[in-house]
Amino acid sequence: MKVAVVGTGYVGLPTGVGFAELGHDVVCIDKDDRKIADLKAGKITLFEEGLEELFKRNAANGRLKFTTDMKSGVSDAGFIIIAVGTPPHPITKEADMKYIYAAAEELAPYISKYAVVANKSTVPVGIGDKVEKIIKTKNPKADFDVVSMPEFLREGFAVYDFFNPDRVVVGTNSDRAVKTVKELYSVFKETPNILFVERRSSELIKYASNAFLAIKIHYINEMADFCEKVSANVYDVAKGMGLDSRIGNKFLNPGPGYGGSCFPKDTNALAYMARNHECDLSLVEAAIFGNDVRKSRMALKVLDAVKDIESPKIAVWGLAFKDGTDDVRESPAIQIVSELVNRNANVIAYDPKAIETAKTILGDSITYADDALSATKGADVLAALTEWQDFKKIPLANLQMRNKRIVDLRNIIDPKVAVAEGFNYKGIGR
Ligand code: NAD
Repeated sequence: MKVAVVGTGYVGLPTGVGFAELGHDVVCIDKDDRKIADLKAGKITLFEEGLEELFKRNAANGRLKFTTDMKSGVSDAGFIIIAVGTPPHPITKEADMKYIYAAAEELAPYISKYAVVANKSTVPVGIGDKVEKIIKTKNPKADFDVVSMPEFLREGFAVYDFFNPDRVVVGTNSDRAVKTVKELYSVFKETPNILFVERRSSELIKYASNAFLAIKIHYINEMADFCEKVSANVYDVAKGMGLDSRIGNKFLNPGPGYGGSCFPKDTNALAYMARNHECDLSLVEAAIFGNDVRKSRMALKVLDAVKDIESPKIAVWGLAFKDGTDDVRESPAIQIVSELVNRNANVIAYDPKAIETAKTILGDSITYADDALSATKGADVLAALTEWQDFKKIPLANLQMRNKRIVDLRNIIDPKVAVAEGFNYKGIGR
């Protein structure tokens, strides 16, 4: 099947690469000339474990192509996936649909045979209807169905999740679309669990899932704070909770707050939608507020560790919003570093993958180190902000700090080892 993917970012690229690897003919379309030029030249534009190898193989065998030209990308495609951004509006925080509407307008004229237009971007309930209307208006002769096909991949595991999805959710009432979706997924070795529902329900499943996960993270973060007050250990608490199969043991890791391109954006967009429908989502609202405040509190926790030092030098390990990615969108690390800088701290940071993306936000307000050890040289405190596994392997004895203090907001350092090495150690919830 010829598959067109409109938008070649963190979702579109792994999706396009994945379908090419499974044998479909894929064209990835993006309006970003530089991105497409790099991809055409064989240069991958984002970091995801295992993606580069698959990208190179399928670009070389001709099953994966890249273009900025909507016409050549979409013509003859039987499956058109929209994977453009749906960023938050800067003031209202509602999901901004301008890229979705523009993509629909631009692709509509080139639908040349029956096609499923699948919306993989996260969109508010009812946007499928609007996309359908835009395409019908632009190209009244087009033979197509718009389906909702929300993406659930985890950044850092995008390749694994593409080939091993927990479920594929598809929102449609059209039998033809159901048949085409089944054909698209028939190339999987083991056909994924596909849940067909109404389009609007599918659109909401994405928001309901992300909000639930965000609330779960916020809940364990609050429990971690309480553990600190009553000298309990949040890991024991989480283990005891997680053994209950109704609760489960996932997403019970305390930290500096959730971040990334999805949870903050999607919880805000859901809350906005609900307010518009005069529906009270107080749990979602509480998680949004609590998580925002938390990141500032975490910056204060770092500063508290060096309150006796004028112009402290703060070494930061990690800028990405989590390990395994170069994505810094809504990264707690970026917000914490910004607050440290605003309070005149001298920050030197290292991240294995996200230095370049972090520079686009933090610029030269901080210094960037070439490796984790050199970041800590002469520092007054080490703040661990992203849970990169490699940080765990660094012997604390090798750190040449002016003051031996650690604020570990990801609990990646063993407190016993830190204390044995003479560090003043503060973690989260233990
Ligand atoms: P992204 O910003 O990384 O990529 C979007 C791409 O779309 C950009 O390269 C942009 O240039 C391109 N684009 C925008 N308008 C276009 C147009 N008219 N024609 C062609 N290209 C166009 O975004 P992303 O992180 O991949 O997210 C895409 C969507 O998927 C969002 O709605 C997001 O909420 C959702 N989502 C993201 C993730 C994730 O892990 N990042 C997971 C699940 C769902």
